[in-house]
Amino acid sequence: MITVFRGGRIFVGNGEVIPRGDLVLEDEKILAVGPQGQVQLPSGAEQVYDVSGKTILPGLIDAHIHITGSGNPDRWERIKELVPHMAIRAAVNARRTLEAGFTTIRDAGAPGRVDIALKQAINEGLVPGPRMLVSGRGLSITGGHGDSANGWPPEVEFKGRYVVDGVDAARRAAREQLRDGADQIKLHATGGVMSEGDLPTARGLTLEEMRAAIEEANNVGKKSMTHAQGSTGIKNAILAGINSIEHGFYLTDEIIELMLKRDVFFVPTLAAMHHIVTRGTEGKIPAYAVAKAREAQEAHTASFRRALAAGVKIAMGTDAATPFNYHGNNALELELMVQAGMSPRQALLAATKMGAELLGLSDKIGALEPGKLADVVVVDGDPLEDVKVVQKKEAILLVMKEGRVAVNRGLSSGGR
Ligand SMILES: [Zn+2]
Repeated sequence: MITVFRGGRIFVGNGEVIPRGDLVLEDEKILAVGPQGQVQLPSGAEQVYDVSGKTILPGLIDAHIHITGSGNPDRWERIKELVPHMAIRAAVNARRTLEAGFTTIRDAGAPGRVDIALKQAINEGLVPGPRMLVSGRGLSITGGHGDSANGWPPEVEFKGRYVVDGVDAARRAAREQLRDGADQIKLHATGGVMSEGDLPTARGLTLEEMRAAIEEANNVGKKSMTHAQGSTGIKNAILAGINSIEHGFYLTDEIIELMLKRDVFFVPTLAAMHHIVTRGTEGKIPAYAVAKAREAQEAHTASFRRALAAGVKIAMGTDAATPFNYHGNNALELELMVQAGMSPRQALLAATKMGAELLGLSDKIGALEPGKLADVVVVDGDPLEDVKVVQKKEAILLVMKEGRVAVNRGLSSGGR
């Protein structure tokens, strides 16, 4: 089937913007794109959308979310949840995320193989959702950020954690995640904000533990990502061979140098900190978490600016499911990245081209180029002028994933 979008402003996703262009799709792929009048429009196009005055973006990519989580700030309510409940909610979250324009997501850790099952269900067409890259369970040290038993009485049951202590345990845990279907492994290189009893600056998994786990992932052609906030853990993760540093509160000059040299991505997840700092202890966010977030936020913003200025590759990730960080509101991160110093163009590239490169999918997604998958978002307005427009549900007129319309909010098509 041939689909044509005519006369829109096209953000190609390769750095180029076509002020008024046409985009032609054939089934699940992009056939042609270019300025209006220069693209051969095939006769017999079944669907023709007039999108003049609107903007066409490649499907957006969120490189760090937790699809099973809710954004509920109440830690106790979260801990009481059953895994089957989280699975049902994950399907709802997936739909919201897709309908917000995000056609690809990278999950950063989930309990009970829910992420793996959901990915399969989406691929089978059982439920709507974005293309998923999953991690299975994230690996952490006992008492570290990924050890959700932190601060809870021993009788409470925990589902999502996987604690490993020692190189062999890390290696085995990575192998298990890969066996179960992980697309990448998630490592906790430092402590964190939401975990009681540790610190963002505390080291998590050791360099040797991470190296063993990463080696297993790389051995089967897969990548690795890391929760890394303090300098020591960030540096350990980079030296161990990590592909992306998530959060990255305290980036030193040495770390930035290493990231450039080793082609390590930065996924800042500014939204996670933003909500905790602005909401405070509202909704039962623990006071210790608010205190840690407030202490780190200034350094985090400074790290973002320095990494940006130095030319570190930055991909957009929200850490959706942290307190008040709801699935479907992912596009707030674009605004926060612009506030922190990016141009709207840079922020949109972080959510398209750079995300695709980080995920190892540059040949398929991230840009509206012939041969790539037809992941298309039509926006009412110009996000290059005002990046906030992408946050409005009613402005996301149409979302298409692999040539199929996921949501259409009033954009009409005619044949020719
Ligand atoms: Zn996360």
